[in-house]
Amino acid sequence: MAQLSDDCFAFSGPLLPIADMERMIAERIAPVAEIEEVGVAAALGRVVAADVIAAQDLPPFDNSAVDGFAVRHADLAADAETRLAVVDRALAGHEVAHPLRSGEAIRIFTGAPMPAGADTVFMQEDCRIEGDAVVAPPGLERGANSRPAGEDVRAGTVMLPAGRRLTAQDLALAAAQGATTLAVRRRLRVAVFSTGDEIVEPGAARPAAAIFDANRHLLRALLEKFGAEVTDLGILRDARPALERAISVAAADHDLVLTSGGVSTGEADHVRAAVEAIGRLVFWRVAIKPGRPVAMGVVPGRGGASAFVGLPGHPAAVYVTFVRVVWPLLLRLAGAAPRAPLALPVRATFPYRKRGGRREYVRVTLRRAGDGVVEAVKFPVDGAGVITSLTETDGLVELGEDVTDIAPGATVHFLSYAALTA
Ligand code: AMP
Ligand code: MG
Repeated sequence: MAQLSDDCFAFSGPLLPIADMERMIAERIAPVAEIEEVGVAAALGRVVAADVIAAQDLPPFDNSAVDGFAVRHADLAADAETRLAVVDRALAGHEVAHPLRSGEAIRIFTGAPMPAGADTVFMQEDCRIEGDAVVAPPGLERGANSRPAGEDVRAGTVMLPAGRRLTAQDLALAAAQGATTLAVRRRLRVAVFSTGDEIVEPGAARPAAAIFDANRHLLRALLEKFGAEVTDLGILRDARPALERAISVAAADHDLVLTSGGVSTGEADHVRAAVEAIGRLVFWRVAIKPGRPVAMGVVPGRGGASAFVGLPGHPAAVYVTFVRVVWPLLLRLAGAAPRAPLALPVRATFPYRKRGGRREYVRVTLRRAGDGVVEAVKFPVDGAGVITSLTETDGLVELGEDVTDIAPGATVHFLSYAALTA
């Protein structure tokens, strides 16, 4: 039955399910091979090239977790207070010469090594000082308030696995192990274009029928967040020869060439044909909304071949396809293990109807309802061209291929913008 509708999915041809798209990306994209040693301070966002093995125990020695008194647990009365002679002080950064003998306590501070013989630490708040003695209450477990060597990391274990994209926390761990450099894969080189006769650079004169380029700025910032080296190649006109030339030249020294616009089926949409002319299209048209006409290909380029992704033109579609298509592809290229962000259950406040067989992303704001449950409120203006739908929201509700009808009150899955590009 012929269908006339405002649904841009209504026209011909099969759409590639997202799971198949992910499989195709995994099959086609190999990580960059070059490895370099970088200082820990410069390693944020870089991908670990080979398992990093812990050189030592962390903490490296048994130490006190609190300010208080180190004791021998065997000295403590089970049901009564215990009085112990305070014979020494143990400060952080200083070794204690005095081994603890029966009947003795040592005044100790957080991070100080446990004196030989001591196995338990009382918090100072729990004790009473009486002259040169300390009186400790009953009931403290053996080992309390003492941090044994290796409780955090054991020497010889993998502390940062190959494929890990380094976070600030990871750098702290590497530094705590005394590392000064880390072996990482080289940074990705990504070229970005916008396409469209109507697109002009902010700052330039804007003809009446033109709009300023938003997408390149979105993409550049997202790529920089990933940690890629970005080459901004400006705006291309809607002309196939120019697109072919520009994509070919960019591919020669970039791992990925990224464009937006011109990838649909309009008369001025030449990106797909340009890629087919110079390389091979891997997929085009994914079962995703917004963003269906996203194209991925392989073109002759750096190290033999470079990846190409043509994103749609509308900024919200650019964002959604970037996080669902380009981000996982970047992770693969960079040698990182892609990890699906965990969607959190929230309560929808809105009704929603969709077609089965495709995945949809709804831009939402979160709020806490009176009963304490977190609710997702849909952005009021539809349309993949609405940029404030990205700036005035907190993230995306993901509606799976099997979902067709959401009623207010239904539990849906929420992905924060932070989680999508973590
Ligand atoms: P297209 O797929 O090229 O037809 O683009 C779809 C819509 O996105 C059109 O309304 C374009 O004007 C708009 N668009 C394309 N590129 C950009 C860009 N770089 N910045 C803002 N809007 C854009
Ligand atoms: Mg266009």
